[in-house]
Amino acid sequence: MTISRLTRLRVHTSLAPMTDPSRKVEFYRHDLGELELASIRETLSGVFLATGPRVAQFESLLAAYLGVKHVVGVTSCTDGLLLVLRALDIGPGDEVITTPLTFIATANAVLYTGAKVVFSDVDPTTGLLDPSQVEAKISPRTKAIIVVHLYGQMADVRALRDIADRHGIALIEDSAHGVEMRRDGLVPGQISDAAVFSFYATKTITCGDGGAIATNSDALRQRLLRLRYHGISKEMASRYGGPYAHWDMVELGYKAAMTDLDAALLIPQIERLDKRRAAREQCVRRYEAALRDVPDVELIQCHGISAHHLFTVLVPAARRDQILVAFGSAGVGVTVNYRAVHLLSYYRNTFGYAEGSYPHAENIGNRTISLPLWPGLGHEDIDYVVAQLKRILVETR
Ligand SMILES: *Cc1c(COP(=O)(O)O)cnc(C)c1O
Repeated sequence: MTISRLTRLRVHTSLAPMTDPSRKVEFYRHDLGELELASIRETLSGVFLATGPRVAQFESLLAAYLGVKHVVGVTSCTDGLLLVLRALDIGPGDEVITTPLTFIATANAVLYTGAKVVFSDVDPTTGLLDPSQVEAKISPRTKAIIVVHLYGQMADVRALRDIADRHGIALIEDSAHGVEMRRDGLVPGQISDAAVFSFYATKTITCGDGGAIATNSDALRQRLLRLRYHGISKEMASRYGGPYAHWDMVELGYKAAMTDLDAALLIPQIERLDKRRAAREQCVRRYEAALRDVPDVELIQCHGISAHHLFTVLVPAARRDQILVAFGSAGVGVTVNYRAVHLLSYYRNTFGYAEGSYPHAENIGNRTISLPLWPGLGHEDIDYVVAQLKRILVETR
């Protein structure tokens, strides 16, 4: 090798890692394929397309996976949260406590019922609802707490259950970020009134759009089955085949039942849940090892077994948006989970929230960036994302 070639090489490797214009790292990729196609084919060969036997099969498989008595399939986590709130008879005049560091769906579901959202700030190290702050938010009107298992990390459900029991209110888990999480020997839906899952396109198990509710309560399950289909007294599928019998509508429900086509997509994924979670965990460990000592980067603390739905880093607030744009130019898919809900225009304008109301949620909301994470994400992709983050941090300093 000539001297000049050597020098060039040395110069090249000593530079900050370069952007590779041919490189693209997706934020998320699903892994649905042949198994799901076969499952859909099987469903198409039967009679039911809407809510039928495949939904029932999925519900019992997910209930068995969780170890929770009942699962009710619905059209989305948003609809599931609304149904649970309605099943608990929550409405105008009531208050529901939740975190401002979540997707808008959590708070919006409360607003749909006519109840009031009462935000409570998060723990600054985990981004999870801080039980020690929740109790002070409880008033005689409070009917429920909705906790969010942010990024796939389970919140302190035991502490929240104690608070809820002391005040005779309900505890609901927004478990949109996974079914695979565990903490203190608990799974979602085990000691809460209900846990609600999302099967939206980017979640850890998906049918494009869908959701489910887990509960150990027989009475709640019965009410949810009715509410998910217009408040009709009997499930449509259960009327199939028998002698004609009139159905009745006994309360005002919704059109929110999962379909057999969605269940057909979801059923084959249940067996892969733990393998996929383990693959995401490997990715997270690689990110963490590479980023632990990087200046201007802070990592979220984790307790228990996370579903590892999202991997987020905290960067300086003043440079966060610049960093998002620079990632885009480098071909890396990134997003923000989440800017604090109370500061979004509708919430500000309708309820008069101002900056500083929930400082920890705002701080994380202003600093967070979610990096690519999915089971098939390659280690070289992670290394590229890390190298880009380091480069961008230096260039924006
Ligand atoms: C995605 C998400 C929802 C909404 O789920 P959908 O199934 O899209 O309605 C609710 N809460 C959180 C925390 C989410 O991330």
